[in-house]
Amino acid sequence: MRVNIQLQCTECKRKNYATSKNKKNTTGRLEVKKYCPWDKKHTVHKESK
Ligand SMILES: [Zn+2]
Repeated sequence: MRVNIQLQCTECKRKNYATSKNKKNTTGRLEVKKYCPWDKKHTVHKESK
């Protein structure tokens, strides 16, 4: 089952990306490095509800 989630930048706390994940394969919070246009660099983005 896939669920829609938002990825929140851990530095500026903005929600820059929307994506979906498979609940069966991804346990816990999703964490990815993505480019943040506000910080102008790659930062860690975490799943937010
Ligand atoms: Zn940011």
